[in-house]
Amino acid sequence: MQPFEYLPVQDEQAARAAGAMAGARFLAGGTTLLDLMKLHVEAPRTLVDITKLPLDAIDELPDGGVRIGALVRNSDLAQHPVVREQYPLLAQALLAGASPQLRNMATTGGNLLQRTRCEYFRDTAARCNKRVPGTGCAALDGHNRIHAVLGTSDHCIATHPSDLCVALAALDAVVHVRTSSGARAVPLHEFYLLPQDRPDRETILSPGDLITAVEVPPIGFARRSLYLKVRDRASYAFALASAAVAIDLRGGMIHAARIALGGLATVPWRARAAETLLQGARAEPASYRAAAEAALAGAVPHGENAFKIELGRRVVVRAQARAVALPRSAKPPNAWTGAPK
Ligand code: SF4
Repeated sequence: MQPFEYLPVQDEQAARAAGAMAGARFLAGGTTLLDLMKLHVEAPRTLVDITKLPLDAIDELPDGGVRIGALVRNSDLAQHPVVREQYPLLAQALLAGASPQLRNMATTGGNLLQRTRCEYFRDTAARCNKRVPGTGCAALDGHNRIHAVLGTSDHCIATHPSDLCVALAALDAVVHVRTSSGARAVPLHEFYLLPQDRPDRETILSPGDLITAVEVPPIGFARRSLYLKVRDRASYAFALASAAVAIDLRGGMIHAARIALGGLATVPWRARAAETLLQGARAEPASYRAAAEAALAGAVPHGENAFKIELGRRVVVRAQARAVALPRSAKPPNAWTGAPK
């Protein structure tokens, strides 16, 4: 690990100023950053410790939504009664990620900024446009079984690794950011950038911009929702394919639906065409399959990851069927495993 300066800050203004310095990185839970520093993928000159900032509250909003402070720990968010009752897909996504120890450290803001698990990104001997722009992409003709089939470019096919962000995408979450010109509220679907020819640029953030909170709007039918994750082992593994699904079911018909995908795309992926197809559709297998086909339309395989296209469709089908089968007000998930009780 390269030597670095450690700089704790006590307020947002100091954090912003320190974070804007060349080579500075914010330190919250550190569950991604410290790993990458040990691998020499990240070599910040200054670590700006923001853990003393008052950004660790979960507040119910007057309109029925919830505001999640950027420093709220994943474990605390997953166990919050409002999240468990009103947004089961959010609690399940959190509990599907990492291990209890990591969830006790990881924060909401940090989760938004997780880096990819592409093995070439994490290997400084490999070609990687995301780590060193212009060097090429070793995954394109290398081992790419875990890589993306949606939102890719000729420069990068890395998946976004977060589970939480998939649920937040389905819920139309809004990211609150403190910038040099004031506060900004950025819809999650505008927060992430597709790789295109600059995969090193992952979000709209500029140096020094500080995520302060994530707001989730009220969505009554989110009580009938779930997060389904398929991975190589039962726990502590990243998604090969996942789906966050919420269904507004009325008399056997789907009035509205939310579907977002994980493990398949370069950013948390909202399947809007699938949602449109489901509006007014009968809640039956043919509708689920049609929505799944729409969700994966445009998917591009890259050798070893071709299986993900059909896997993704099947995950979307199964997630819809399970969501429809839920009671109107689903029981909160088990606080430790994420499984429905
Ligand atoms: Fe780097 Fe993206 Fe290629 Fe992986 S897929 S090697 S992160 S450019």
